Amino acid sequence: MATRPVFDAHADSLQLALDLGRDHGERGAGHLDLVRGREGGLGSLVFVSWCDPKFIDAGPHGARDRTRGLLREFHRLAERHPAQVSFAGNAVELARARANGRLAGIPGIEGGHSIEGSLEGAGIPEGLSDFGRTVVRRMNELGIVIDLSHAGRQSFFDTLETTQKPVIASHSGCMAVNAHQRNLDDEQLRALAANGGVVGIVFCTPFLDAAARAEEQRLRETAEYKALRGANDTELFLAQCEFLQRAAVPLPLERVLDHLCHAVEVAGIEHVGLGSDYDGIQRTPQGLEDASTYPALAAGMARRGFREDEISLVLGGNMERVYAAVTGPGSAAASSRLLPVD
Ligand SMILES: [Zn+2]
Repeated sequence: MATRPVFDAHADSLQLALDLGRDHGERGAGHLDLVRGREGGLGSLVFVSWCDPKFIDAGPHGARDRTRGLLREFHRLAERHPAQVSFAGNAVELARARANGRLAGIPGIEGGHSIEGSLEGAGIPEGLSDFGRTVVRRMNELGIVIDLSHAGRQSFFDTLETTQKPVIASHSGCMAVNAHQRNLDDEQLRALAANGGVVGIVFCTPFLDAAARAEEQRLRETAEYKALRGANDTELFLAQCEFLQRAAVPLPLERVLDHLCHAVEVAGIEHVGLGSDYDGIQRTPQGLEDASTYPALAAGMARRGFREDEISLVLGGNMERVYAAVTGPGSAAASSRLLPVD
């Protein structure tokens, strides 16, 4: 069993709990659960509440209600398995969970529409509006970590100009290795380093590799893929994951290391971390099939010449530093009180 305290800054596993009744305390479907996480040395995990756009269109409170449902599942998991996972809303709670040998579960929200009008319009294509800058400052005050993974390029730089605290790009790759809009270019990587922030290298195959992306697009056009069914969208998603993982040419783990090494080269060893996007991606690179496999990434880094201390920074230390800086003592932070529990 791995002893390394891995910090994974992005996983979408909560939707499996909400839509399929999946108990993540047990080994089961999807990429991640507490059992496999423990095997992989997972110490801290951001459980993201990701709101599919269809819920935004579903009614006046569609996005808010979906997000609340996902957050409720997060609390339910911690209540059901208190010896395995603890809610960590700030650096103090994170340290306590880790000291008790539990996974530190950190709540995350992806997309401002989850809190409706109060954030809507914060980001415009040209960059941050005045209101967007106000939101950034308020997040600094509240001790909430800002995630720029989905931000447009101008919003990315506007946020860095506005924030007083380090930020993360929780699940992205490097534009110089693969030109995909969700990846960061070298100027962004250097700006993130200057801010003290961290990029979480993603395991999403289309972000990592152009040929993988093209092949997956082709496979989605096949009759077999189109014939896949599920009782709901999440069950269908799992069937699609299984198909693509089986049918596509495996993407070697080395491709993840290409992005990781480039990010280290440009931003520096203290500004690179992990954000797998497990249970949010349809396919994983070879050898990184689920949350028990983080040690394979550590072994890959060792093969590429990283020292032990450098590996632990990337696997967890760097993300932990940002969370401590933003949510730790001194910030207005951050605790379970910020979450709607109704
Ligand atoms: Zn995402």
